[in-house]
Amino acid sequence: MKILVINCGSSSLKYQLIDMANEMALAKGLVERIGIEGSILTQKVEGRDKYVVKETMNDHNDAIRIVLDALVDKENGVIKNMEEISAVGHRVVHGGEKYSKSVIIDDEVMKELEECAKLAPLHNPPNIIGINACKKLMPNTPMVVVFDTAFHQTMPEKAYIYPLPYELYTEHKIRKYGFHGTSHKYVSNVAAEMIGKDIKDLKIITCHLGNGGSVTAVKNGESIDTTMGFTPLEGIAMGTRSGNIDPAIVTFLIKELNYSVEEANNLLNKKSGVLGISGVSSDFRDIEEAASNGNKRAELALDVFHYRVKQAIGSYAAVMGGVDCIVFTAGLGENAPETREAICNGLEFLGVNVDKEKNNVRGKATLVSAADSKVKVFVIPTDEELMIARDTKELISK
Ligand code: AMP
Repeated sequence: MKILVINCGSSSLKYQLIDMANEMALAKGLVERIGIEGSILTQKVEGRDKYVVKETMNDHNDAIRIVLDALVDKENGVIKNMEEISAVGHRVVHGGEKYSKSVIIDDEVMKELEECAKLAPLHNPPNIIGINACKKLMPNTPMVVVFDTAFHQTMPEKAYIYPLPYELYTEHKIRKYGFHGTSHKYVSNVAAEMIGKDIKDLKIITCHLGNGGSVTAVKNGESIDTTMGFTPLEGIAMGTRSGNIDPAIVTFLIKELNYSVEEANNLLNKKSGVLGISGVSSDFRDIEEAASNGNKRAELALDVFHYRVKQAIGSYAAVMGGVDCIVFTAGLGENAPETREAICNGLEFLGVNVDKEKNNVRGKATLVSAADSKVKVFVIPTDEELMIARDTKELISK
């Protein structure tokens, strides 16, 4: 069985065709600049040169058509025809309170997705456009949606209710939802496998640290709290997002500094985080380089970032009544030994003891804590696409 996984953004689209017999990606691709001049598709197949297609793509219909063409291309493709694709799994950011699991797409689900778009106006609409484009080109292929929010639907009320007038929740659905759920679920399950215990007997803290970042408390296999909230803006400091700040800063920006609502929103989402503090970049590699060259603001940005992740780990150890295992994943979590070391430094009181040598690893599932560390610390590369493909396979096989 071959499953196509699609992750559709507003002007870009990532895809993978996964062979479920061995769970390996036959092809991975990225389409950029959809609807913008210079549209380009880049497809990678293990052992072959990159296949690049530069063709006008006015919209997502064009993009999906070109993806399917690339997959069946005689020379550069990996399948003979589209009928080889058994199903399509779509990543959708927001499933609201309705979805705690992935679902097969039907008209009812499409209606609900439109409804959820209000909660994620930047993310859900391009996801929906991608689904519609696929449905048009592959009308007989079953499709599944996998939500970023679903894994966190197990959070208890006390974790997801904000201390605001309760009607904002009942009437407007303002509550914590949490994101990166597919990633947190995947790496926590791999960690349990690596420890050799049932996930139901473990307290795990998963740190998804990329350009966006979130930390999750996974108790007995369920998310019981996570740092992202109503939107992906809450939580730890990120590449360009502020994470937690005093909400009064927003009203101050608007009332006293004459920011428009749009400008304030842009500042918090695009100009803050480690970019805002360092003034250097949102990319941690650039900030680390600047810091090592003596740039004080870059150093401060890293300090703030490490501090806030450490705070999240401490608070989740507290709410779970302990922690057996900490997992680092995503771009930074998988590839930056210094970051992991700085975050874990000082957590010895919790029983965290990172082995410097073992920790010198990038992008490989590895136990990086010392043999005597009470809390096991892992680096586990995330694989959201594989999770989406597994859910898709399970649902269409029922
Ligand atoms: P993601 O959003 O998961 O793709 O992660 C992107 C972030 O990971 C960027 O800020 C990168 O700087 C960071 N990253 C990727 N590779 C490395 C590395 N080798 N060292 C430090 N940061 C890295």
